[in-house]
Formats: sequence, C-alpha cells, structure tokens
Amino acid sequence: MKLNLCRVVNGCRLGTLTNLGKKGVQAMELPGCIPDSVLYCSIHDPIALCPHGYNNNKTISIWGCGGRMELSTSKFMSIQRALQPDWFQCLSDGDTLSGETSKKRAKKSVDRSLSFLDECLQLQEKSPELQGSVMIGVIEGGDVMEERLRSAKETAKRPVGGFLLDGFQGNTMAKETRLKLLASVTAELPEDKPRFIHGISRPDEVLECIESGVDVFESFFPYQVTERGCALFFNYSYHPDPEEAVLKESGDQDAVKIRDEKNKNEKCYPEMTSFEIYLKEKKYQDDFGPLVSGCSCYCCQNHSRAYVHHLLVTNEMLAHVLLMIHNFQYYFSFFRSIRDALRDDRLTQLKEIICRQAL
Ligand SMILES: [Zn+2]
Repeated sequence: MKLNLCRVVNGCRLGTLTNLGKKGVQAMELPGCIPDSVLYCSIHDPIALCPHGYNNNKTISIWGCGGRMELSTSKFMSIQRALQPDWFQCLSDGDTLSGETSKKRAKKSVDRSLSFLDECLQLQEKSPELQGSVMIGVIEGGDVMEERLRSAKETAKRPVGGFLLDGFQGNTMAKETRLKLLASVTAELPEDKPRFIHGISRPDEVLECIESGVDVFESFFPYQVTERGCALFFNYSYHPDPEEAVLKESGDQDAVKIRDEKNKNEKCYPEMTSFEIYLKEKKYQDDFGPLVSGCSCYCCQNHSRAYVHHLLVTNEMLAHVLLMIHNFQYYFSFFRSIRDALRDDRLTQLKEIICRQAL
C-alpha cells in the first residue's frame, strides 16, 4: 500500500492510496470510504455499541450472534490468518466511550493497546499467510489528551500500515473535544500513512474530521439510512464558478427547502438525520419522480418514490435493495464532491452548504 498525497489544504489531505487488494492493482482516492474492492476487518460492528467492562490485559471481548467471545492476541491473529484481509484493525482496548473515562482508565487503554500491537506484530512476522495484509495500528486514550498523544507517538514508532483513530463514535464526547483531540493526534502521525476513523458518518461530521486530517471512513451510514426506510437526499453541489450567481441562488433555495422538509420529519422520526427523507410517508404514494432528481443510480433511473413507498408499506425486500443502491451511490458521490472541492479550493463553500442542512 502506498499513499501519494497531492494536496494538503488547511489540514485536509487529498491523495490516492495505490497497490491495494490481493493483486496490488486497486487504488482508492482520499478522502474516501473503504471501497468494495478492499477487504477491511475491524474488531466491532460499527452500528452496535459494545457493553462496557469486559476487556482485560489478556483479552478483548467481542459480541456476535452467539453472545460474547474473548479474543486473545493468538486467537485474534489466527482469525486474521484464516481471513487474510487486505487491511485489519489491530486488537485494541477501546472501552473508553462511556463519557466518564478516568485518566487511569485512558492510560490502561493505551498500555493494553500498545502491548496487543507488539504481540500482533510479532505474530504477523511469523505468519506467511499475513505477509500481504496490512495491520492498522489503533490510537486510543479516550478524551485524555496526554494519553491520546502518547498513543499516537508510540504507535507511529511501530511498523504499521496506517492508523485508526478509535473511540470517537457515539454522542458522549463533545464535538469541540473530539475535533481538538483529532487535530492534535493527526499532527503527531507521519504524513505518508493513511488515517482511518470509526463511527463518524454524518456528512457534516465527515467534513469536520477531514479538516482534522482524517482520510478514510466507513460506509455504514447508507446502511443505517436504508434500514429505517429512508433515502439520502441532501445538496452537496458546490459551485466552482463564482459568477454562476443564479445557480447558487437556486442551490441555496434547494438547501432551505430540504431543511424545512427535514424539520417537519424530525418531529415524527427522531432517529432520522437531516440528510434523508422517509419514503414510507403517505405524501410519497403519488410522487412519481425519482428519489433524487438528477441522481444517476439504478433506482432513480428506473423507479419512482411512489414505487419505493409501495414496496416499503408492503414490506417487500426489494425496497431495501433499491434504497441501498441509491444510498450507497449518493454517499460515495458526496465523497467525490469533497475531493473535487478540495482540488478546486472550494471546501469552505461545500461545508457551508452541508452545515446549512445539518440540524
Ligand atoms: Zn439515486
């Protein structure tokens, strides 16, 4: 895996990761979402928060359909040997999400994670099956700056392929704290290795993390949106030509319209974000337009909001298949727009548009 950075603007990194995949021929543009062509193995399911208090110096607990399972480094690495992923998150103690993490607990999370990392690196060296897999070192430390910096500096000394900024998922950490920690941690990391983050997915939060030097995101947001019967629908079109005043004005009006609609929906469906529409609503039963006008996905090109509404109310599995197609393509297009905006020096404009729609 090789990272070529072509621009760094105010902490935002634009570049390409090459030599990816089993044959080393895949590439991924940054900032971006992990593509289908790369097999990434993380420890926990990004959409389910884990119960607290089950990790110790020797094992990390994970939860599956069969209940809790304790992973030691040897068990963890034997799973990796069987999977042979392109990238895998190293075993780490990220149990610092409760919002009440003490300095002592944050220190323990860093000590344990570094010890797991050293053991896993040794085991990887002895495993011929894992010579093509890239281990991602994990930065822990909860919301304690001193421990976060120690974790970043120590992990950067090890031969890892990239860094995962863990422990920022959920709502327990204040936004200001999160952004301050992220910016300080990424400043300690080498420029030539990618920075991953878990649990951040909303478009406005994605942009904030990119400004703090994060490169790679997970793509669970389109899945969550699909699961609640929604379609992504937000404006991410910035206008490269400042003279296109008319277009800008209409873009602003769109943003206001979308925000007003979200305001109404928010009251009915609290789990929704302001970046989506709930297609089960009755008003869509006679709406024969595409999910999003101008979207080039298979669903929008071939089906209407009314059809997806009908599939949702009749509990047809096809509803989620079509929504997933749209939501994935829309979300990936949003990332493409971020990269274009970075290339054109228009990220501020894009951020303004996104923030106007965020509630
Ligand atoms: Zn679409």
